[in-house]
Amino acid sequence: MKKIAVIGGGLGGLSAAISLAVQNCEVHVYEKNDHFGGKLMPVTLGTHTFDFGPNTITMPQVFDQVFIDAGENPRDYFEWIPLKTHTRNISSSGEVFDMSTDLDEVVSQLHKLDSYAAQKYPEYLDEVTRLYHLAEKEFFPRTFTSMKDYLSPSLFRAFMKVRPMQNMDSFHKAYFKHPLLLQTFNRYATYIGSSPFHAPATFALIAYLEMIQGVYYVKGGNVKIAESMAQLAEKRGVHLHSGVEVKKIHVKNNHAKTLILSNGDEVEFDAVVMNGDLLEAYPKLVEEHYRPSMTNKKVESYSPSISAFVLLAGLNKRLDKMLHHQVYFSKDYRQEFETLFNGKYPEDPTIYISNSSVTDPSVSPDGDNLFILVNAPPIRNNQQENNVEYERYKNLVYDRLESFGLNIRPHIVQERMITPHDIQRKFGAFRGALYGISANERKNTFLRPSNRTKDINNLFFAGGTTHPGGGSPMVIISGRNVAREVLKQWGSVPTQLS
Ligand SMILES: Cc1cc2nc3c(=O)[nH]c(=O)nc-3n(C[C@H](O)[C@H](O)[C@H](O)COP(=O)(O)OP(=O)(O)OC[C@H]3O[C@@H](n4cnc5c(N)ncnc54)[C@H](O)[C@@H]3O)c2cc1C
Repeated sequence: MKKIAVIGGGLGGLSAAISLAVQNCEVHVYEKNDHFGGKLMPVTLGTHTFDFGPNTITMPQVFDQVFIDAGENPRDYFEWIPLKTHTRNISSSGEVFDMSTDLDEVVSQLHKLDSYAAQKYPEYLDEVTRLYHLAEKEFFPRTFTSMKDYLSPSLFRAFMKVRPMQNMDSFHKAYFKHPLLLQTFNRYATYIGSSPFHAPATFALIAYLEMIQGVYYVKGGNVKIAESMAQLAEKRGVHLHSGVEVKKIHVKNNHAKTLILSNGDEVEFDAVVMNGDLLEAYPKLVEEHYRPSMTNKKVESYSPSISAFVLLAGLNKRLDKMLHHQVYFSKDYRQEFETLFNGKYPEDPTIYISNSSVTDPSVSPDGDNLFILVNAPPIRNNQQENNVEYERYKNLVYDRLESFGLNIRPHIVQERMITPHDIQRKFGAFRGALYGISANERKNTFLRPSNRTKDINNLFFAGGTTHPGGGSPMVIISGRNVAREVLKQWGSVPTQLS
């Protein structure tokens, strides 16, 4: 029986571990934190519970497939709640656009806001559907571990058809004229940590997921996904080690041979899957001379995706006029992204709020549980943590919300601030970035680091910093793809992973 280590118990690591265990491997997952699920982290403040990280969940079938592949019924573990009208978008001048999978509801709003968009919307949906299906077929299953992947004619044909050279903003301008609608759909670039004025139009495919397939929430909190995956992993015999950090990987003859653990143990493995952020964990765990394809200089040359400044606010009341998700937009979106990618905090930020207690009051029985997120610049090299500045920014966010008529400060009974420095420390995220490398540059979008390093022949990468990319469904796919690659080196690829 092959013995495999997974470094990191994020969704990508759990997905790889389950797939490998189902194929009769002995799998050990080492997670430095006390919880499994990585950035999908439970936070409890008094009677208020929060999902830190993924609040907007799409592609439920991807999560379910992990359970189905393991011979289980996902409904025995957790329950999806589809959110028909899921996100309220509010412009700086107070106009409102609610996103929904109900076509009539969307079109009737478009008629009031933008007659051009009302006419073009069905065409937009057709185009984003086309983009999605191409990506699903040609990009999501690939690990880019051999030249065959890069030189594949079908991949090249698909690449030419996914609008790689057009930016998202210019693509959206062909369908929408109203500034609020442009902001609403351009915000998808932030789902990959990038700017809509640079990210390729390809990622407008997210509109297919949100406006056609729909946005989902898990009853009891999205953290139930991670809890259920950990439960399933244990059931399939995975050894889950929480509170154990991998400190070093000893390499011998281009082989990751032994892991040195924070508890002092040294353990040998046949293969290692690194789920921790590739740009942070690989240089930290492997001596530089063993990784010529990822030198420290190369790591530093990558521009990180945006980070997040998060406030978790438990209120003593329920607010009116709230959906599960809402976005309060800045006046000048272009300026906001320029500021962010110049390493500064915008003074007029776009603010996202998830209030899962709208759908599920049981997670926060005594008042709303607001997950307030503002895009933040990644940490600059050697940037010191400045708590005074973070405190000032917190108040700026509350002031901005007040200008939208949302006076929450007097009602806060629980509060926690989570900054880019916290994200870096807690999850080992490269410069606090949420999604690894930014997709602002085309080469970094389509040529992310491969799922297998050229340097060490039994070391693989699964998760948001590698292929197919960041976001919770993508990292689940990544883990599954990597399990397939690990097994392939020993010649056994089961049909459900092929
Ligand atoms: C604030 C925020 C909001 C987000 N919103 C959404 C959203 O709405 N929808 C969505 O789909 N996605 C969202 N995401 C992105 C999503 O959370 C990530 O893409 C995904 O969870 C990443 O999973 P992963 O397995 O790649 O990595 P991670 O979740 O980062 O897991 C990696 C794990 O490795 C561990 N680790 C690292 N190094 C070591 C080591 N040496 N030893 C042991 N353990 C180690 C870390 O502690 C961590 O738990 C959000 C993320 C954040 C932070």
